Amino acid sequence: MQPKSERTAWIKGGEARCKTIPANPAQPRRLILLGAPGVGKGTQAELLSERLGACHLSTGDIFRSAKNLDACERTPTMSRALDFMLRGDLVPDEIVLGLVAERSGCLRCRGGFLLDGFPRTVAQAEALGKVLGEQQVAIDAVLSYDMPLKTIVARLSGRRTCSICKAVFHVDTRPPKVSGICDHCGAALIQREDDRPESVRVRMDAYEKSTAPLAEFYRKKGVLVSVAAEGTPEEIFKRTLKALNGRAG
Ligand code: AMP
Repeated sequence: MQPKSERTAWIKGGEARCKTIPANPAQPRRLILLGAPGVGKGTQAELLSERLGACHLSTGDIFRSAKNLDACERTPTMSRALDFMLRGDLVPDEIVLGLVAERSGCLRCRGGFLLDGFPRTVAQAEALGKVLGEQQVAIDAVLSYDMPLKTIVARLSGRRTCSICKAVFHVDTRPPKVSGICDHCGAALIQREDDRPESVRVRMDAYEKSTAPLAEFYRKKGVLVSVAAEGTPEEIFKRTLKALNGRAG
């Protein structure tokens, strides 16, 4: 098990640097995780990060972290991005690509990386391919977490997140011991604004239109690895490792 990576450079961008750089693994892994919102790819990214030592780089986490700042601390571009995000819409490519370009050092990190939520459109995938090509860094595999859409919508609308420690629960499948209260830190559980039913519908449309074609994009490049996203996080994780090892072997 690897220590949790700190991700300061990724979350803050600009001049921010991580104090601890992951140890040099024998085989740094550079993976992209694809899948509709709600399939549990964030959880898989965390588990993979602990196992492989690679940083979990989520573009959604950059936006959520900016949302917690005071309005005067946000750049105008970030405020614009948050308007899209809170409606459940995709943030425009030029804003996302600007944020990632500012953090391109994370793609060169010796610990490798696990990209989660980026790329989300074919234009973003093409831009990422260009950046990685310039840096002479190659993707090992693109993990595509597959699940029927109906199951995803039920999952997202029942999801509750701790307002302090960000632990994730579900009103039906993973309820907290006391309704509305986090098991770990006792803080209130909230529904993420983008998990509300009206935002979920918009996010699913955005996924079908913009993100689903990415699987085809990477399949054609011969790097796509499909993983069934049904079952417990541990079961899905075992399936993920098996799929990755199968690919390496
Ligand atoms: P996530 O946590 O990955 O589901 O992202 C939450 C929200 O942030 C999404 O619904 C989008 O509004 C926005 N977002 C995150 N990553 C991207 C991206 N690569 N392209 C466009 N919008 C994004």
